[in-house]
Amino acid sequence: MTATPRTISGLDPQSTSTANNAGKSSASAGHSSSNTAPHGSHAPHGLSILDLDKRTYARALDCVHCGLCLPACPTYTENGLEADSPRGRIHLMKSLADGRIEPTDSVLEHLDLCLDCRACETACPSGVVYHELIEETREKLNVDRPKTFVDRMVESMFFHVFPHPTRLKLAMLPVRLMQKIGLWKFVTADAIRKRLPIKLDKMQQMLPNDATAPIWESNLATHYPAIGEKRATVGMFAGCVGSVLFQHVNRQTIAVLQRAGCDVVVPKTQQCCGAIHHHGGKMHDAMNMAIANISAFDFYKNPDGSHTGIDYIINNAAGCGAMLKDYDHLLRDHPQYAEKSKQFVAKNRDICELLVELDPPRPTHAVNRTVTYHDACHLAHAQKITAAPRQILSWIDGLTVIALPESDMCCGAAGTYNLSQPDMARDLATRKLNHIKTTGANTCLTANVGCSMQIQSEAHRIHMDLNVAHPISLLYEAYTGQTT
Ligand code: SF4
Ligand code: SF4
Repeated sequence: MTATPRTISGLDPQSTSTANNAGKSSASAGHSSSNTAPHGSHAPHGLSILDLDKRTYARALDCVHCGLCLPACPTYTENGLEADSPRGRIHLMKSLADGRIEPTDSVLEHLDLCLDCRACETACPSGVVYHELIEETREKLNVDRPKTFVDRMVESMFFHVFPHPTRLKLAMLPVRLMQKIGLWKFVTADAIRKRLPIKLDKMQQMLPNDATAPIWESNLATHYPAIGEKRATVGMFAGCVGSVLFQHVNRQTIAVLQRAGCDVVVPKTQQCCGAIHHHGGKMHDAMNMAIANISAFDFYKNPDGSHTGIDYIINNAAGCGAMLKDYDHLLRDHPQYAEKSKQFVAKNRDICELLVELDPPRPTHAVNRTVTYHDACHLAHAQKITAAPRQILSWIDGLTVIALPESDMCCGAAGTYNLSQPDMARDLATRKLNHIKTTGANTCLTANVGCSMQIQSEAHRIHMDLNVAHPISLLYEAYTGQTT
């Protein structure tokens, strides 16, 4: 339900003591004191706990407090709090950097509640690059914050299991076995789930419930030849969670690319894109993953030892794609990889984006279905790709696509947000599902692993008959005639 907007930041920039009241009083976060204050330890009003890079701090100075981003912000739309709006959070971060406020629990809660969905960047007429601010702030403030046992467990899954496909397959093994023999429905029964902490409940609820899925997902081959005349060599970024839980979408992606005249290669040494670590404030780990991936695609050799220049690097998961395209920012100060990362980014494409560029022969099988399309934030807002997925759907005969209200409003997935902030994530998912219901479609398409798991699991939780799929799955069906 949408709250009545109200201004409640309590962030009087002249007083550090008001930081403890963030979220309680009525001063406007838009009343910034100065647009020329230096950052970090040069703070004029006190010792700053947040020493932002000068370039990041400058992002905050770009904000003119117009408030045009507020209606686009999912958290502000839900609770109406200025401190949970982009403008409010920018003010909080700038005030922290200026040493005007301290990182009280209240301040941290407002910053934690941000989805980093970047809808505010799309809405902002001043071009504020908000994500650089929130990501660096999280990196620097998250050090040594106390955590509960459940938080540590969830975090351990985030950082040590999800990004490693073999570990994730091992973790999924008992789940897949229980799904095969019909035990999973007892484990996920309402009576058991109600006893779990909400974060653990959410985690088990997110796991795809598919008794037909393989117990141990097989790896992709390293090379798939073009069908017909070869037009390009494409490196496939398979993703960590994607290559375990959505490998069928990876295979469909490759099959469609082959039909578009692409030789597809899959470098074995690729790793997780680093988004989980980057958004979790572990910048050093994210940089190492970026370097490993740049090297994996840069030095890819065919099985016969020959070196194939890769024309494009593609992915089918918006969250990964946004991270891959941000490597030039992540490594901008790296002595060896600053330049290489720019070349890597220039070759990166989302699968829908590349298919529109390649303009392949149209599929010939009709898919007589009514669907709706949800814009993943990291496709629509981070990569500014909204037309390409709709365009490839228009190539499919028989398909009816019903427009989804608020299609580019976050569904609450936001990487690992649905596990770290389950209440807000659930509210946003409910909002999304209510909109999907109004379309009458029982298939929702979305081009991101996280959105797919979030929307599918929340639909399942409320016993809503909804199938969530990737647009590529329907295109594959239209090319091959095989129902997905
Ligand atoms: S729209 Fe941009 S300039 Fe205006 S308040 Fe939001 S972030 Fe600041
Ligand atoms: S990134 Fe998303 S949740 Fe965070 S302030 Fe911007 S619009 Fe709001």
